[in-house]
Amino acid sequence: ARFAQLGASDEVRAALKESFKIERPSHIQAQSYRALSGDAADASQRHILLADQAGSGKTLAYLLPLLQRLQGIEAEQGRSKSKRPRLLVLTPTSELATQVRDVVKNLSFGGLRSRSLLANNVSKPRTQIEALKEGVDIVIGTPGRVARLIEEGKMLTDDVEAVVMDECDVLLGDSFEFAEQVAPIRNALRQDAQFVLVTATIPDDVLRQLKKFFESDIRVVQ
Ligand code: AMP
Repeated sequence: ARFAQLGASDEVRAALKESFKIERPSHIQAQSYRALSGDAADASQRHILLADQAGSGKTLAYLLPLLQRLQGIEAEQGRSKSKRPRLLVLTPTSELATQVRDVVKNLSFGGLRSRSLLANNVSKPRTQIEALKEGVDIVIGTPGRVARLIEEGKMLTDDVEAVVMDECDVLLGDSFEFAEQVAPIRNALRQDAQFVLVTATIPDDVLRQLKKFFESDIRVVQ
């Protein structure tokens, strides 16, 4: 398949070509586009688990259809209607959050504003709170800092439509020992927020735990 056949917008295709020199989707990118965008009746409702090996292009696989969806909604509603985040990407480490943010910035279509929320020496909560006040569409961060900003009422989650958990196996832990870190974030979200879980491996017992954790069907896309 080609990006155009998958429903990728002209703007998405131009950004891919210019910033990444990418013309053809990888396998997981085609699968993800089909699952997360377009006219699939439940495209925005079901939780999705994207699984493929490292280096298969999973970052763009989730970013492209989700950003295109955000941008489409924005175009319909008129720009800057909401100042609140609509997409949240959780990563286990600051390094990965920074990498994902760089990819989002390089895509940079549709005037979507992104911000990373990390817990390290150079990232001051004060500055993060200021940025959130000014308006951010996409938040990329580690669970601890994101949970704190939500709990303090500094990051409002009413408009969050989708949450990506990148490297969800690491985020939640092999035996789900870190799930409690993520639970307060999930509890703060709208009931209909969609989870997109991203991983290289899905052992059966991990999938069982994921299904239990999300109390609903997770569709595996691989
Ligand atoms: P990831 O698996 O997301 O870490 O991506 C691994 C690398 O593959 C990154 O450097 C991407 O820029 C690159 N990449 C992603 N998608 C494609 C594609 N469709 N064609 C060629 N390279 C790609």
